[in-house]
Amino acid sequence: MIDYSYKYIVIHFGEIWLKGDNRNVFISRLRKNIAAALTDIEHGPLELKRDRFILELSENSDVKEISDRVSKVFGISWFAPAILVNGNVSDMFGAIRKLASDLGNKPVRIVVRRSLKKGKDSMEILKELLALAIKEGVNVDKDSKNIISANITDFGTLVYSDKIKGACGLPVGSSGKAVILLSGGIDSPVASYYAMKRGLTPVYLHFHPFASNKIAEESKIGEFGRVLSRYSNGASIYFAKADLFQSAVMKMPSKYEHVLFKRFMYKVAERIAKKEGAEVICTGESLAQVASQTVKNMRASEKGIRLLMFRPLSGFDKQEIVNEAQRLGTFEISIKPYKDVCSMRLRNPSTSMSADLVDALYKKYGMAKIVQKTVKGISHSSWTI
Ligand code: ATP
Ligand code: MG
Repeated sequence: MIDYSYKYIVIHFGEIWLKGDNRNVFISRLRKNIAAALTDIEHGPLELKRDRFILELSENSDVKEISDRVSKVFGISWFAPAILVNGNVSDMFGAIRKLASDLGNKPVRIVVRRSLKKGKDSMEILKELLALAIKEGVNVDKDSKNIISANITDFGTLVYSDKIKGACGLPVGSSGKAVILLSGGIDSPVASYYAMKRGLTPVYLHFHPFASNKIAEESKIGEFGRVLSRYSNGASIYFAKADLFQSAVMKMPSKYEHVLFKRFMYKVAERIAKKEGAEVICTGESLAQVASQTVKNMRASEKGIRLLMFRPLSGFDKQEIVNEAQRLGTFEISIKPYKDVCSMRLRNPSTSMSADLVDALYKKYGMAKIVQKTVKGISHSSWTI
């Protein structure tokens, strides 16, 4: 009696195939990331078979939890729990019948693919499978959306129906590191997701108005750390106090604070980036979303920053960002009350600051020293998945 239970998960990569000579570096990074996502879960070996990984399950593997973890690993286009049988058509059919019955005997479309170059071709095998299906009463319909695939390979035939969309993008770490400016709002956690999707390992930096870093660490910012760490197999947040900045700018016209605070944050971020070996600063800004996020202001705020400024939400509408936050599970955290740094709460910021004006204010209000002192007061916390 053949055991038609799921013994494997077949995992296909997406954009990695565009990578030419670097492909192996990306593939080994992806392998590491999948293994790290599953460290505390029971499973068998993870093997590279041509253009896919095959994850063997063990007897007590929790397929649902494994699927949930794999769905958060960037670099995977799709995956599916699969039954492995040999190349014999009647065994393939046995697996197809089992999956059709799991689908409630709804009409199914059978698709045969062959990566093995010898033996019967896929059309011949499909014909035999359809003949068996009709004979055994499996409801087949070539237009059905319920697809059962039989993929014939040199190590057996993988049969699966539940193709699950992966997170796509590139493996976290394959593009280096980014310091991500994480606020208590809706946008920056979503920006972080898109930075990770392009292969950046996140290092978070948060500025808070509290008397001690510990208060910020125990606030909802720590909750972001826990949720976001699922996409990067761990996360760490640097907490920085904004009090020195706040007192320094007390006498400055408040319409300038937004942009000067941004320049100040980027300068602190540069210091963290140096320590961490990061080459990117990422923010949750979206072009023209609010009065402070004009092209002029963004350019003025980033002048003199020697790292790549990455604003993955630049082209997003607010509603699209909210939808993404809901999907990722950060929205509920973002809308909890939080005491933001005053400078970011001010209304009516100037919409067209020049870089020269920001330079002058930076000097006048002694920002270089404030940056140095702020960096000294930073503390650091880590979360694992
Ligand atoms: P968000 O929803 O991410 O807070 P926002 O729409 O409120 O964004 P701003 O307040 O202008 O817009 O902030 C723009 C970006 O600046 C944020 O997305 C974040 O990257 C960064 N930022 C703002 N405040 C802080 C903070 N206190 N600590 C770290 N980064 C911050
Ligand atoms: Mg904000």
